[in-house]
Amino acid sequence: MKCTISKQYQFDAAHALTNLPYDSPCKRLHGHTYTVTVYVTGEIDLSKIETAVSEDQFMLIDYNVLDKIVKPYIENMDHALLVNLDMNTSLVDFYKNQDELKYKIVTLAYPPTAEMIAYVLATNIADNLRVLKLKDHIKLNSVKVKVQETPKTSAEVVQII
Ligand SMILES: [Zn+2]
Repeated sequence: MKCTISKQYQFDAAHALTNLPYDSPCKRLHGHTYTVTVYVTGEIDLSKIETAVSEDQFMLIDYNVLDKIVKPYIENMDHALLVNLDMNTSLVDFYKNQDELKYKIVTLAYPPTAEMIAYVLATNIADNLRVLKLKDHIKLNSVKVKVQETPKTSAEVVQII
């Protein structure tokens, strides 16, 4: 049986796409309440379940297990300024010089667009899912991460497991 499970997470963060080559409000420092939906797709081989001992045999992945993987990445970005140091150096300098502010700066390897936040999350979650010890009748195929920046805009990235 092929199936997909999903779970939604949320975090608040600030970013600024300071180097866009055209005029845009996205260049200014601003924040979003990001909604992240993680989809895990795989297969439950029902023929391999000889005796049903517990309900978790019929789960692709327990939501608690998914939480343990996903939440640290979500919490790391929560109430932070997301930057790519190559492109946001002056912003980081400005922020760090505001002594009275308690800053939390999270440096991504890429500019903090919804696409790249989804990519970073999907890559990290896939890495964790690949090393997860699964029951013999469970196979995970892919993870999709959808990052919703506003009610109207989102980006999705799929990683094969
Ligand atoms: Zn934005």
